[in-house]
Amino acid sequence: MEVRLLGATPDPIRVIYTAARTCYSSRSPIEIMAEHPSKPKMVRLIKRLFAIGHHSVLEHVSFTFAIAGISRSCSHQLVRHRLASYSQQSQRYVTQSTSYIIPPDLKRDRRFQTALLNLYELYRDLLKRVEKEDARYLLPNAQATNLVMTMNLRELIHASSLRLCYRAQWEIRALFQRIRKLVREFEPALGAFLKPRCQHLGFCPEEEPCGRYRWVDRR
Ligand SMILES: Cc1cc2nc3c(=O)[nH]c(=O)nc-3n(C[C@H](O)[C@H](O)[C@H](O)COP(=O)(O)OP(=O)(O)OC[C@H]3O[C@@H](n4cnc5c(N)ncnc54)[C@H](O)[C@@H]3O)c2cc1C
Repeated sequence: MEVRLLGATPDPIRVIYTAARTCYSSRSPIEIMAEHPSKPKMVRLIKRLFAIGHHSVLEHVSFTFAIAGISRSCSHQLVRHRLASYSQQSQRYVTQSTSYIIPPDLKRDRRFQTALLNLYELYRDLLKRVEKEDARYLLPNAQATNLVMTMNLRELIHASSLRLCYRAQWEIRALFQRIRKLVREFEPALGAFLKPRCQHLGFCPEEEPCGRYRWVDRR
């Protein structure tokens, strides 16, 4: 898979700081913006608000990612995160190439690959007599897809906390690892918030723990 940062809110620390200070100040956001506080001061406030659960201020910052070559299986999990915008390659308008993702555990399974190749052969055959919108019903979950996703920081932190879990499904975890790397490169202080849920909580709430963190049975 390939993931690139297409765009992000400029000066994100200042944007969040200004929003946060506006809540607790008699001054206007315009006046607060003119203060020019130091970056460590702004980051300290953001961390404090995050710790107490004042998370809505994080919604003022968003990131747009170009995502290429993930499976439809992975994209289906991704779009379950509803507080984001997605533009995904259409199987109705675009003839699908023989391009698929193989799970590492199936790399050497010849039956898996043969079955896929047979599917694609039939797909191409069907295209001779039916529309793409019908032929696509045959395509596998392994089919590669491309999309553009915009997510605000609050939702990105939430989705990352689920998808960076050591027990998360390998492909969506790999996707969020790349997303975290890009956010860290863009603004390390914000990238630090993208981590598995156990690292936020200090314990593991999973049904089947991986053993890295103390397990708390919340059933
Ligand atoms: C390990 C794992 C296993 C899963 N297994 C399954 C499965 O077997 N079947 C399945 O269908 N899904 C499954 N999912 C998907 C899961 O149920 C969620 O749909 C997905 O993780 C999106 O997260 P979210 O619900 O927090 O919503 P998001 O869309 O990311 O929303 C973020 C937050 O906004 C709030 N929110 C959003 N929409 C609403 C709303 N309509 N009403 C109230 N609050 C809202 C919630 O607080 C939510 O946590 C699984 C997810 C994980 C991580």
